[in-house]
Amino acid sequence: MAVAVRRSLKFLLRPTSKQAAALAACLEDHRTLYNAALEHRRTAYAKAAVSVRYGEQSAELKHIRADDAGGQGRWSFSSQQATLRRLDKAFRAFFDRVKAGRTPGFPRFKGRGWFDSVEWPKDGDGCRWDSQPEHPTATYVRLQGIGHVRVHQHRPVKGRVKTISVKREGSRWYVVLSCDDVPVEPLSATGAVAGIDLGVAWLVTTSDGEHVANPRHLAVTAERLATAQRDLARKKRGSDRRRKAVARVAALHAKVRRQRLDHAHKAALALVHAYDVIVHEELRIASMTRSASGTIEAPGRNVSAKAGLNRSILDAGWGVFLTVLAHKAESAGRELIAVNPANTSRTCARCGHGAKENRLTQAEFACTACGHAAHADVNAAVNILRAGLALRQAAEAA
Ligand SMILES: [Zn+2]
Repeated sequence: MAVAVRRSLKFLLRPTSKQAAALAACLEDHRTLYNAALEHRRTAYAKAAVSVRYGEQSAELKHIRADDAGGQGRWSFSSQQATLRRLDKAFRAFFDRVKAGRTPGFPRFKGRGWFDSVEWPKDGDGCRWDSQPEHPTATYVRLQGIGHVRVHQHRPVKGRVKTISVKREGSRWYVVLSCDDVPVEPLSATGAVAGIDLGVAWLVTTSDGEHVANPRHLAVTAERLATAQRDLARKKRGSDRRRKAVARVAALHAKVRRQRLDHAHKAALALVHAYDVIVHEELRIASMTRSASGTIEAPGRNVSAKAGLNRSILDAGWGVFLTVLAHKAESAGRELIAVNPANTSRTCARCGHGAKENRLTQAEFACTACGHAAHADVNAAVNILRAGLALRQAAEAA
């Protein structure tokens, strides 16, 4: 069975200084366009209770471009439409929430630094992936108004490039490709199945008793981030030093994201290579709080602001990890099952006795009924695996 999926890929751009300036101008003009279109909608709504639609704003673009040939007129018509569609989406979400009886905030103007990406919705339309295929070593992407920008392409692009986006993160620029029809390459069966427990001390613990650590360097970056945030809080608003401190915090956030993603890729790849079926807990706020309180109770640790930040960084890692795992499992033809996490940490994996007294500490499990002793995360992972296999059996029987 030939299966194809959609994937997105992100590569670092290596623009010349002239191109970097053009990228910044492109982003800024798209931000201005977004804000102007938002202003238009707000005014029409406030003065005449009229809803302006995407179609009208898109039709207006022609005139805006003609009146400002050296400014807005430089960029791709389609990318500007994509920005207007983005605003339209924000309004739809707003009205959906109103309809649902909530009182959402009106879509907001995007300040400098709060608008960080531009999308070209179709390869070949104002943009071209691999625009210099004859170049022997480098890959380029052509962007209208910016030129052929060199790409640090660290992995192959498979499938058909559909959309191309440019994203600014701190002082770096990235290109994000969304590819259709990416062929799935199933791995051969291993005959092995596993449950995985997501935790704080260890990112992943498998029912086979293997641990995958949270990366050490992530904790180092988290600490530097905490220091940078404290530093930022002391700076005067509007000062040059504050601007620099903001840039530093943003750069460290970006670094955390990169490190986390990189680690998630490695950990997920190892799992899909080893197992045909992987069962994990459904990620819910409740399960996060459970393990958070576990850490707080753990002996020898005082929960300071720094620990709090560390925690939130590790927690966010679970979502990233599961997203990456889902993609890899799909590509490799592996089965991924999510189960309800209730009671997986307090139930004995050997006899089924469930009691919170079974959990001695964050790391130790000892059953008060049968005496079964195990690493608490491994015990939980075994329960998770069992719940997943039961779910699977029930689905097959139905
Ligand atoms: Zn037991």
